[in-house]
Formats: sequence, C-alpha cells, structure tokens
Amino acid sequence: MKKRIWLSPPHMGVSEINYVKEAFDTNWIAPLGPNVDQFERDLIEYTGVGHAAALSSGTAAIHLALILAGVKAGDEVITSTFTFSATVNPIVYQGAIPILIDSESGTWNMDPDLLEKSIKERIRKGKKPKAIILVHLYGMPAQVDEIKDMADQYEIPLIEDAAEALGSTYKEKALGTYGLMGVLSFNGNKIITTSGGGALISDNKELIDKSRFLATQARDDAPHYQHSEVGYNYRMSNVLAGIGRGQMEVLDDHIKLRRSNFQYYKDHLSKYEGMSFLEEPNKDYLSNYWLTCILVNPAQTRGITREDIRLALQDENIEARPLWKPMHLQPVFKDYPYYGGGTSEKLFEIGLCLPSGSNMTDEDRGRVLKTITKTLEKIKLR
Ligand SMILES: *Cc1c(COP(=O)(O)O)cnc(C)c1O
Repeated sequence: MKKRIWLSPPHMGVSEINYVKEAFDTNWIAPLGPNVDQFERDLIEYTGVGHAAALSSGTAAIHLALILAGVKAGDEVITSTFTFSATVNPIVYQGAIPILIDSESGTWNMDPDLLEKSIKERIRKGKKPKAIILVHLYGMPAQVDEIKDMADQYEIPLIEDAAEALGSTYKEKALGTYGLMGVLSFNGNKIITTSGGGALISDNKELIDKSRFLATQARDDAPHYQHSEVGYNYRMSNVLAGIGRGQMEVLDDHIKLRRSNFQYYKDHLSKYEGMSFLEEPNKDYLSNYWLTCILVNPAQTRGITREDIRLALQDENIEARPLWKPMHLQPVFKDYPYYGGGTSEKLFEIGLCLPSGSNMTDEDRGRVLKTITKTLEKIKLR
C-alpha cells in the first residue's frame, strides 16, 4: 500500500514538545497556567485583537459567544448554510433557531443580499434576529464590509466563525477581529492545532472576562463554591496550550506552505476546461488557503465529475473530500428557515477539497497531481 496522503494532518514544529515538557516539569498540568496565559498573549499579538480566551474547542467558543450575545431559547440566529455543523449546533444548544443563508459565488460565504432579505423578513414576522454568525469557510474571507454594515445598520451583534481562517485577512486586518466576537479553532485538521482547542477573541474586555468566568463553571468570588449562574467546563488545559505556543511560532510558515499548495494545483490544473478554484476575488482578500478547493463542471469536462477524481485519489490512498454539505440539506437542520437559491447546493455537488497539509512533500504533491491529471486526460485544454 502506498503511503497515505491526508487532507489536512497535524504538523508539529520544534518547540511544542518543550513547552509541553515545561508543563510537566513544573507540574502545571491542571487547567490554567503559564502556557495558557502566553498562548493567549500570542493570539492577541498575532491577530491584533484586544483580548483572547483559550478554550477547549471552537464549538465551545461559539457557544459562549452566543450566550454572551444574549441568545436564549426561541431566539433566532442567522448563519451560513455552507459550513461545518459545529457552527450551527451551539445555536440549537441554546434552544434558539438557526436561520440559514446561502452563499454568494465569489467567496462561497454568506450572501449579503440574502442576509438583508432574511433580516427584513424576520423583523416583519415579528422577531429581530439576536445574532449573526458569519463563517469564513476554507480560510477565505467573506464579504466583510457588506455584512458588517448590515449588522451595524440593524444593530445585530456579529460573531465571526474564523475556525478555518486563522492568519487570513480582509483589508489587511485579521479575520475574527471585525465582529463583536471572533472564534478560532485548533482542532487536529486546522492550520495549527493543539490536538483539540479553540479561542474566543474580542476587543471588548468585559466579554472575554465573562467568557473565562463562564468557561470555569461560573464560580462566584467566595471561599466556598458559590454559583449564581450556569457554568461550563470549557477552558483549555495548560498542557495543550504548550502545543499552541509552539504552533504559533510556525503559523506563518504553515500559511506560506498552504498558499504554495494552492498555487501549485492552480498552475497545473487551471488549464483544463471545466476546472476552477476557490480564489481571492481581489487584493482586499487574503486567504490562508487552509484547503485548496476545486470545482469540476461535468458540462465542460466531457462528463468527468469530482467523484471520478475523488475515487481515483482514493484508489491511490490519497484523501480528498467533497465540500461541506450545506446545513439546510442535513437531516438534523432541514426544517429550519433557509434563504437562498442553489449556490451552495451546486458547490456541494461539483466541489472537491484537495490534500492541503503544510507538511506535504514535493513528492506527495506530485503524486496527487499525477492522479488527477490522469483522470483528466480526455479533457480539452483551454
Ligand atoms: C472546526 C470548525 C469549527 C469547530 O471547531 P472545533 O474546535 O472542532 O470545535 C467551527 N466552525 C467551523 C467552520 C469549523 O471548521
């Protein structure tokens, strides 16, 4: 069996193990400690945000953001349909109702026109949405200005799900720092990982202080255990934050490598009719290219589909995946309100994520490319 090439595997630098060892040597294994404090400072410095709380996952960060935005049972929360389920699940944890919005075809993220339509209609129906969760999928910035203007105009708190977009910028400002709060993830497949983890970031100190309080079981200031609010166990451990500190040292390298993967695929595949890429629309958008995503349009490829490519890669022990299946098509979310045409459905039908790890070798990339181009042999060149 040939060596497995993964879609987006962890990639450790050199310092991670030392910070972890430091935690062991000082017996600072328990939840909080110097690695957590320094990892939070690293995130603040990197993104330019005012405050950060390191948490157990990106999902936990979204859940806390919704609680801090005052989302309660029966409230409505607007979000992108084209995302991973972890964006939507916490809305349901709160007993709130997700309102799912389709993508625009430029960045594949939330369509500002559909957003406006949905806000107006929800207000007309008697309920103003309590929050907007804007996703920057695959590291590609959404149309931030348009969406932020809308959130401001209707005075609805904006939460950015930048779980896939650490290091991406819009107009040279980090994603996750435009909204009232931003969410990061350090899950195993993300651009950097702590094996599992996340963060909530904001310029508002009170919100981040409150998130830390809620994330540590909401203990009141008393010598005994005293609670006036429901709490959560959502903090990051000091051991895992050690991995995060090491990963921050290599984040810029990872971005360079992921961007070079994108460029490599594009240089070699865009000459084929019917093949296109998720790309930065103009200089305002800088993507970390967490994953390189292609569209395979069978009408122009003499019938060759993304499944043909995916299965050919699978036969070579190479992992590739269809794009995220939109939430309004998921059995668990299909009955919630949805605003859209067919954009995300079409993307799901013809899109594929290619292996994009920052630790891919030239040989790995060559193997992926060769497998794809063999499948495309019959296709006309542009
Ligand atoms: C990974 C991811 C999350 C959740 O992060 P976890 O750390 O895995 O809980 C949320 N939203 C999106 C878009 C993601 O890709």
